[in-house]
Amino acid sequence: MAILFISHDLSVVRRLCERVMVMYLGHVAEIGGRNDIFDQPLHPYTKALISAAPIPDPRREAAKERVRIVGDMPSPIDPPSGCVFRTRCPQEAPPCRAREPVFEVVDGHGVACHFARAPRVLEPSA
Ligand code: SF4
Repeated sequence: MAILFISHDLSVVRRLCERVMVMYLGHVAEIGGRNDIFDQPLHPYTKALISAAPIPDPRREAAKERVRIVGDMPSPIDPPSGCVFRTRCPQEAPPCRAREPVFEVVDGHGVACHFARAPRVLEPSA
C-alpha cells in the first residue's frame, strides 16, 4: 500500500513519510529520502519550509536559523523566466534568471537548483 500525503507542514511530513518531494509552482524542487531531505536540504525552498516548522523546545526554537522567503507566489500561468523560485529565493543570482536549473542528483537526492552543489554564501542583511 502507498499513501500520498500533501502538506506545507514539514514537521508532520517528517513523522509520516519515508520519501519526500518538495514542489514549488508545479515544479519539483527537491526529492529524496526523509533523512536526506531533513538532515541535508539543498534547495532554498526546502530549507525555508524546514526552518518554518516550529521546534517544541523554546531554546532550540530561539536558536535556530530561519530561512525567510518574501513576496507572493507568481502566477503558474505566467511563471518567471529561468528558475520558477527566483523571485522569492534568498540566493537568486544572474544564472537563475537566464536558464531553468537542471534537475540532478546531488548527495543522494534529486534537486533543481544552480547552486545545489556549491550554495552561495550570502552576506547577512543589515
Ligand atoms: S536556481 Fe537560483 S533562484 Fe532557483 S532555487 Fe537555486 S539559487 Fe534559488
